[in-house]
Amino acid sequence: EDQSKAVVSAANVRVVGRIRPLAKYEIENGSTPCVLKVPTIPGHTGPETLQINPKNKSETQKWFELDAVLDESCSQKEVYEKSGAHQAISEDIFQGFNCTILAYGQTGAGKTFTMGTALGAQEDDDEEYTIQESDGVIPRACHDLFQNIRDKCDGNAQVECSYMEVYNEEIRDLLSPNSTDSSQLRIRETLDGEVYVRGLESRLVTTPLDVGKLMEEANGRRVVASTKMNATSSRSHAICVLKIKGVLEDATKFEAKLTLVDLAGSEKMKKTGASGARAAEGISINKGLFVLGQVVSALAEQRPKFKRKPPFRDSKLTRLLQDSLGGNSRTIMVACCSPADFNMEETINTLRYATQAR
Ligand code: ADP
Ligand code: MG
Repeated sequence: EDQSKAVVSAANVRVVGRIRPLAKYEIENGSTPCVLKVPTIPGHTGPETLQINPKNKSETQKWFELDAVLDESCSQKEVYEKSGAHQAISEDIFQGFNCTILAYGQTGAGKTFTMGTALGAQEDDDEEYTIQESDGVIPRACHDLFQNIRDKCDGNAQVECSYMEVYNEEIRDLLSPNSTDSSQLRIRETLDGEVYVRGLESRLVTTPLDVGKLMEEANGRRVVASTKMNATSSRSHAICVLKIKGVLEDATKFEAKLTLVDLAGSEKMKKTGASGARAAEGISINKGLFVLGQVVSALAEQRPKFKRKPPFRDSKLTRLLQDSLGGNSRTIMVACCSPADFNMEETINTLRYATQAR
């Protein structure tokens, strides 16, 4: 029999802040940390607070409340657990909830480090993949997903992987060798509301290493443009989708999508000194992030009077995520922050953006 999807409350959007350690170049340019986690008493549950302490004492301090604050002392494992990613992959997926994990923040803030790729240090195909300390959300999620498929489904599940990027409001298939031709890719919706991209490749995967190899292949096809801030910064949203169909040991069928998104840098264009084509590119990148902010805040709105219809169709990014945000789904947004006072303004923007989602 098919499992009916439970209706969940607005609490399905979880927003956490992650502060990375001060980088070498930040120490060298005289930056000091200005982003702190407000200590919590042992046994504390509920929201956590992040504090901004401007170097210039005439500027006021600011506080932001988040579902969790993960400071520089947090390991990749703790981030995976405290962000809620672990719960999503061990429970929610197997109850048929689409789960989405997004990394947001300015270039250099730690989005890619947080999400990780699905490739670890290990290369031997025959061996079971062992999670490395530095592995981010994606390898951990893949590892747990296949482990849970063995434990909960006796291996009776199928996982399909697709990987795309949205660049300048265009979708590019990162698993297709002819990925430069995006004109064939169209966003479509099935009668029961599942969003998919017609023409997008998807491949069956059976181990975390399978996903790792696909991601390695795909990352080589990503649009990477250099900016003043970071030579390898990505100006596109990278979206990895794992579609899971399976049967639990009690014969319950389930279907769910796990969507893992490394968003484009959220910084304002002026800081990177972009001009011409790059600045035009910045406008539509920001459009995706802008609409995503509106969608997530509409979803998080708890007061019925203020409920708006989330404007999913206003950008490619949100249209693609329509069946994976809100409704019968779980969303985790990791707001990545640099601790450096030099980046304070962007960090405040990141936290304002993230907290409008709560
Ligand atoms: P983004 O993807 O947001 O542009 P990255 O993930 O590439 O940023 O991070 C920028 C740099 O900081 C990288 O060299 C990365 O390894 C490092 N870094 C980011 N987060 C952490 C962290 N929590 N601990 C240690 N190094 C980090
Ligand atoms: Mg990155």
